[in-house]
Amino acid sequence: MSYKNYPMVSRIVFGRGSFNQLGDIIAPKRLNVKAPFIFLVDDVFKGNPLITSRLSLAYEDQLLFVSAKEEPKTSQVDELVEQIILNHKDRPSGIIGIGGGTVMDLAKAVAIMLTNEGEAKNYQGWDLVKNPAIYHVGVPTISGTGAEVSRTTILTGPERKLGINSDFTPFDQVILDPELTVDVPKDQWFYTGMDCFVHCIESLNGTYLNAFSQSYGEKALELCKEIFLEDSLSIEDSQDKLMMASWHGGMSIAYSQVGVAHAMSYGLGYLLGIKHGIGNCIVFEHLEDYYPEGVAMYKAMRKKHNISIPQGICEHLGDDEFDIMIDVALSLTPLWENAIGDNWEEIITRDKLKALYQKM
Ligand code: NAD
Ligand code: ZN
Repeated sequence: MSYKNYPMVSRIVFGRGSFNQLGDIIAPKRLNVKAPFIFLVDDVFKGNPLITSRLSLAYEDQLLFVSAKEEPKTSQVDELVEQIILNHKDRPSGIIGIGGGTVMDLAKAVAIMLTNEGEAKNYQGWDLVKNPAIYHVGVPTISGTGAEVSRTTILTGPERKLGINSDFTPFDQVILDPELTVDVPKDQWFYTGMDCFVHCIESLNGTYLNAFSQSYGEKALELCKEIFLEDSLSIEDSQDKLMMASWHGGMSIAYSQVGVAHAMSYGLGYLLGIKHGIGNCIVFEHLEDYYPEGVAMYKAMRKKHNISIPQGICEHLGDDEFDIMIDVALSLTPLWENAIGDNWEEIITRDKLKALYQKM
């Protein structure tokens, strides 16, 4: 057995207001005055002093607002890279992604594609990246995905929705400032928060589980229960703890895998463009056969916060469309191996998946 030698985020700051330190942190990383820092910022912050008035741009630095309406695409990464190359004489000193999972994944992918030839779609998969990425910094503004800590950047390409999983993907620096999450809308808070909860349930109930993953998964789950089921936390404590739950949830799946909800949610995302967090919720509603305790807990959380989940989204789909989603889900072998075991192909039939999708 050969164990994975897993890279981690090398530097991290945690604390309310720590975003103020961004300028000081990146300054020593400036290569020269022509090598800019590129700030990729979620366009929800356009005109919002919480972010924009606290960024200090110098020399050729550039602020690019990006939309998080849709999940990141390989073509979008290629366009951003081209734009950066055309606009600047020197390769950037660094990429700073400020936003949710969408913007953080874009920042990681752009940092990789600035030093690797060809198109982003060619690197979707495991360990296909050849050259180290340029310095990249992640600043999450919503908590749950674990994208701030993970070794992947999930992209939708022409053929598949799959991550660029590589040793060069993790951020060199992360700034965790829970104050940045203050304006997250309640529904979105729940959907992205449930991504973390589902990471814990899928990791803790998977066949890949080991003490490393378990120790992080249990901590994240404990935090999720406190945040989503109890009334004892102040808003500030709840923000702080969800940011750390996201981190621990991400660490938990790093050395194990996700499971049924993620596999099926990828199908919904690929065909219908349904975003990751809400997609996980839509699927998780129907997974009591696989995760009975987790689903019961999830439903209690959803009821407590009075969150509505879209229904009937597969009602009008034809057989071909179900087939596309089923193909995407079934292609994710490690997820099924983790969820079910080595014999998963005998248990997870196309009919079973279709029946589940038909309920959504
Ligand atoms: P998101 O980044 O798509 O953002 C969701 C919404 O919240 C957007 O409308 C965004 O503008 C808004 N938002 C973000 N921060 C805000 C703030 N502070 N105030 C107000 N609005 C704010 O959501 P997400 O759930 O964080 O990320 C989903 C993406 O993450 C998907 O593309 C998914 O594939 C990816 N993901 C990646 C990993 C990984 O390991 N790389 C893991 C899980 C999910
Ligand atoms: Zn997830």
